[in-house]
Amino acid sequence: MEYLDIEGTRIPYVVDYRNVKYMRLELKPDGHLLVVMPKKSTVKPVDFIMDKKDWILRKFREINSYRELSSNGNENKLLLYGRFYDLEIKRGKYSVALFEDKIVVSAPDGRNPYVYLKNWIKKELGNELERYLSQYSSLMNVRFNRFLIKAHRSKWGSCSAKKNLNFNIKLAALPEELVEYVIIHELTHLVERKHNRHFWLRVSKYCPDYREKEKMLAKYWYIIHNNRIWNKMLEK
Ligand SMILES: [Zn+2]
Repeated sequence: MEYLDIEGTRIPYVVDYRNVKYMRLELKPDGHLLVVMPKKSTVKPVDFIMDKKDWILRKFREINSYRELSSNGNENKLLLYGRFYDLEIKRGKYSVALFEDKIVVSAPDGRNPYVYLKNWIKKELGNELERYLSQYSSLMNVRFNRFLIKAHRSKWGSCSAKKNLNFNIKLAALPEELVEYVIIHELTHLVERKHNRHFWLRVSKYCPDYREKEKMLAKYWYIIHNNRIWNKMLEK
């Protein structure tokens, strides 16, 4: 196994010369990169890898996030912005403090700390959405009325005929790139109601790998629904 540093990420790779016509890359589930080269190739494997570095970095992050997501114990941690945090609950004045890998929630006796945490997350998410919405609505040249955050049962977001946007509070569990995608998706509905060819064409202008994003959203949906803390926060 050899290693290559791509923009600060250490990528393990193996070069394999085979009887093939074209060079190709495969990212293996354990996170190493397989570089298949034609036997007579004069191209340096490293040059080929660097040529595809954006794809590699994206895939590498994706695989690592899945690995983390499926590991034991994470169902008891709070998934926030695509990362898992240990949750510590204390009694006292209302407060939330976010540390490197831990979140400390404090609520007075007799008060539900999960409700407080949910409201805190909602406010944080609201700020984030506001930032992205103003960025993308001007980039995409679309206008919306207002947006709300709700605890949707089945959707990440929606767009009404009156150009009001609704977003799921569970978006707060997602990595930023997925939040951005959901925003692009809903803003696109302002001009195209249905998921037709025109819709996806428009989406792909701002998010070329939207298919990838849809797949990741499906995984996160599953994970959030199996997460004890998210369930506790959203229980009525
Ligand atoms: Zn849609």
